[in-house]
Amino acid sequence: MKLSQSFTKTTKTAPADEASNSAKYLLRAGYIYKEMAGVYDYLPLGMRTLDKIMNIIREEMNAIGGEELRMTSIQPKEAWEASGRWDDKVMDVWFKTKLNAGGELGLGPTHEEPITRLMKSYISSYKDLPVYVYQFQTKFRNELRAKSGIMRTREFMMKDLYSFSKTREEHEAFYEKCADAYHRIFDRLGIGNDTFRTFASGGAFSKFSDEFQTLCDVGEDIIYLDRKKGIAINEEVYNDETIKDLGLNKDSLEQCKAAEVGNIFTLGYRFSDALDLCFNDEEGKRQKVFMGSYGIGPSRVMGVIAEKMSDDKGLIWPVDVAPYKYYIVGIGEAGEAKAEELHNFAPEDVILDDRKNARTGEKFADAELMGIPYRVVVSDKTLANNQVEIKNRITNETKLLTLEEFTSKLS
Ligand code: ATP
Ligand code: MG
Repeated sequence: MKLSQSFTKTTKTAPADEASNSAKYLLRAGYIYKEMAGVYDYLPLGMRTLDKIMNIIREEMNAIGGEELRMTSIQPKEAWEASGRWDDKVMDVWFKTKLNAGGELGLGPTHEEPITRLMKSYISSYKDLPVYVYQFQTKFRNELRAKSGIMRTREFMMKDLYSFSKTREEHEAFYEKCADAYHRIFDRLGIGNDTFRTFASGGAFSKFSDEFQTLCDVGEDIIYLDRKKGIAINEEVYNDETIKDLGLNKDSLEQCKAAEVGNIFTLGYRFSDALDLCFNDEEGKRQKVFMGSYGIGPSRVMGVIAEKMSDDKGLIWPVDVAPYKYYIVGIGEAGEAKAEELHNFAPEDVILDDRKNARTGEKFADAELMGIPYRVVVSDKTLANNQVEIKNRITNETKLLTLEEFTSKLS
């Protein structure tokens, strides 16, 4: 990517109503654009990072047998009336509207009802089960308060997987597999050490659900964490009974602020009952399908990473989610020509700062604000020794590499 050809620009200030660091930096660095409170556009840099986060999640969901689809956001009310969730008192975040042709519809806040209804066309026998399907999709929630930039918005990206099993046992085996996959995802996203499986309120079919909570000062949840065991309790179910149930000890629990990045849930027969999703077992007996749902919010995750990994100069992305790996600045005539050549060799890895109207100091500051993992300087001076200078955004360490060494790192 050549900065001279990109429409986005960095700015010195962020909107006054943005309190969190992540929102300020993401706006200033040109990752996102604010339409209104809780509603953001993803600009080219922001889209790349969001896509990288989604791809890591996708790989891990595919690895446990997930099949990807994409459902519509438009929701007919009938499916939701069947489960009792069309009522605004039951689901208080609905965006609803009317069809010109007559009738009401809602913009999907989640997809249990429509996916259950869809599966009625495909599941009829034990031979059709289990089914594991997931999607990346825009969800709409009329949140009373938007908060912390892209961490709580009214339109956001969700990865939602739904499992359809013959029995509770089959369900539980997959549930644990998915929990393991979640740990791998958060490790790969660079927040694994601060993300904990957290017991939260369940439903009729399980005492608890499992949230994945990342320690974060602007997080909206309070959790009680046993660091040694690596598990936590959400304050909503924090009481003597839960502590005892989980074999934990009050004295070793730390109270922490955290952001919910994922949530897995045993749904049981809640929706298969309401929408009558059944299968014939091996004896030909009609049985209800046992369900689970598994969410992650990639856009909230992006906000959490930005929040946790930043300094007074800007963002600091882990390499695997950075929009580009290298930020190259050419200085002097030969330096600029070589910088362009390196960019053209691997445009997917490189931001080339070839802006004619920016000074070198401004270019360096923007590289830091954008949080690009490595800043590379190619000048007439480094080229005299056939070298480039490379600076690590995390460690601040500067090294000289030969052109051959650097080129071999480019994909
Ligand atoms: P919260 O308690 O934070 O409102 P939730 O429990 O209602 O979230 P789920 O229905 O479990 O959220 O959604 C799955 C995931 O989607 C969450 O773990 C979170 O990562 C993400 N998410 C939920 N609401 C929002 C939102 N308003 N903005 C951005 N991401 C969200
Ligand atoms: Mg949740």
